[in-house]
Amino acid sequence: MLKLPTCPHCNTIYRYGDVRKEMNKKQCVCYNCGKKFKPSKKKVWILFLIIALIAAIFDVFSLYMIEGLSFIGLLAINVIAVTAGYLLMPYAVRFTPKIK
Ligand SMILES: [Zn+2]
Repeated sequence: MLKLPTCPHCNTIYRYGDVRKEMNKKQCVCYNCGKKFKPSKKKVWILFLIIALIAAIFDVFSLYMIEGLSFIGLLAINVIAVTAGYLLMPYAVRFTPKIK
């Protein structure tokens, strides 16, 4: 499920940094074939939902398991989860051909 997106026209693999740049655009032009496509972030939301779920389970789990867990500790777990989600974002982006 998690891999870097490719151009839907010529299958050029986009690098991490490029995906991060392109994913915020409404419409992109492939640097290889020059055709248009648009980034789809549907899977990014699914990714965040899964991470939120895992973080929630982790929170409950650590509340029971770690005695005297501080608010900071709990916060750290969630910050790590959100950061992980943020870093994984480009892997969940898909490029779909733009139909004109
Ligand atoms: Zn292309």
